[in-house]
Amino acid sequence: MFRTVLIANRGEIARRIAGTLRVMGIRSVAVFSEADRGALHTRAADDALPIGAPEPGASYLRAEALLEAARRAGADAIHPGYGFLAENAAFAAAVEAAGLTFIGPTPEQVRTLGDKRSARALAERAGVPVVPGAEGADPAALQRAAKSLGLPVIVKAAFGGGGKGMQVVEREEDLGAALDSARRLAVSAFGDATLYLEKRLERARHVEVQIFGDGRGGAIHLFERDCTLQRRHQKVVEESPSPVLDERRRRALTDAAVALAREARYRGAGTAEFLLAPDGRFYFLEINTRLQVEHPVTEAVTGLDLVRLQLEVAAGGALPLRQEDVVRRGHAIEARLYAEDAAHGFLPQAGRAERVRWPSAPFVRVDAGIESGDAVPVHYDPILAKVIASGADRTAAIERLAAALDDTLVHGVITNLPFLRALARSREVAEGRFDTEWVEREFLAGFSALAMAPAPELALAAAALAERLLVAPGGTGRTGAEAVPDPFTTLGRWRLPGLG
Ligand code: ADP
Repeated sequence: MFRTVLIANRGEIARRIAGTLRVMGIRSVAVFSEADRGALHTRAADDALPIGAPEPGASYLRAEALLEAARRAGADAIHPGYGFLAENAAFAAAVEAAGLTFIGPTPEQVRTLGDKRSARALAERAGVPVVPGAEGADPAALQRAAKSLGLPVIVKAAFGGGGKGMQVVEREEDLGAALDSARRLAVSAFGDATLYLEKRLERARHVEVQIFGDGRGGAIHLFERDCTLQRRHQKVVEESPSPVLDERRRRALTDAAVALAREARYRGAGTAEFLLAPDGRFYFLEINTRLQVEHPVTEAVTGLDLVRLQLEVAAGGALPLRQEDVVRRGHAIEARLYAEDAAHGFLPQAGRAERVRWPSAPFVRVDAGIESGDAVPVHYDPILAKVIASGADRTAAIERLAAALDDTLVHGVITNLPFLRALARSREVAEGRFDTEWVEREFLAGFSALAMAPAPELALAAAALAERLLVAPGGTGRTGAEAVPDPFTTLGRWRLPGLG
């Protein structure tokens, strides 16, 4: 096993990885940009090294700085977490060239599966259905393809990720403009202009399968996660198991994922993503070659530590368990807490989280990147924490999640808590009746109106209270909207029917 692991990331995921390293008796070394000096993830690790200026390109995305830190730390492996360089094949190769272990798949696998077109080709070889689509550089050919696929289609960047750069085209005459703007975005966000088309599946659900491979053709799955609750193609709430799969379909889906992993001779942890159509058919979307944000729901229902499994596969080259050793039990659900203003277009927020209170309750786990007094820099993804609740069944898990979110407080930075609380208590979520666009199409319409119009006297009272709570020793106190506690907490039982 490794002696020292460098964690090439920040925030909640860096802290999460440090937690497992501690349990395993492996020395953890964090890295930090100037904006993250003293951050929670650096306090959670055994050591921490500076890697540069706040901008991601000057720190967390700088391969040489990370390798230099690994050398200084005497690390024998690097865990990339998610985001940043986690799916960068050149980084994976550079880590291996430096004689260190990259905790992830081979650089070649990162490259092949990072290109959604070659991933689709792999799925076809493995006999797994893909979303009907078309590729090619010629706009006229794409135009014809869109017509034969049938509109609406989605224009995607071949190397895209994070729900970015996808354009839905409803009318044939809009395709040209969509291709142009998607191409520009693909170049600026992913450094590659390659696009392709997919037919848009209507009222689909997002269901993904956690896989682990040994790199030699052996692979297992750790069941599925349902990540259908999304906003702008980005996951908001994830759960396991999926509320809509029966055992037969679950089996078909997990078999397909394992077939993909085998075909790729996949090494380490990965996620095969699928869209599930209303008729029960599923279609391969892509493979993510890293630990996912939502991995804790899988941990909650399987009792397995996914970071530990990653380390064991990376160090030993074999899977530490067989398929029949993976047993699923109960239900788990996760909500992503972001520093963003749900009432104002989910605008990302930054500042200092003067006071933070994480929930503490049975069957509740919090993976947090901040504590009271910590900074939330403007430079990075605004994820602050994940709240995960589990239970014997789905209803119990959702009830615990809703209560845990009520118990969560973040003062000093606006968060999406009001949105999450309302979501966790909505009837459709309770009934499992939603598709990937339901949040935007239906839920948010009712939500923002209320969140943007709190009673004026309430806002004043809240501001006064916040003022009292937030006066730091020797400080000046804070005023204004950023200090106003959200109405969903303060209203107590006086919530509007249907939303509370
Ligand atoms: P990214 O890699 O940017 O995350 P994905 O291809 O994984 O993009 O898709 C992200 C989300 O976008 C999906 O979960 C789904 O909600 C939506 N989506 C993607 N492709 C389609 C499609 N062909 N039809 C309908 N929705 C889609």
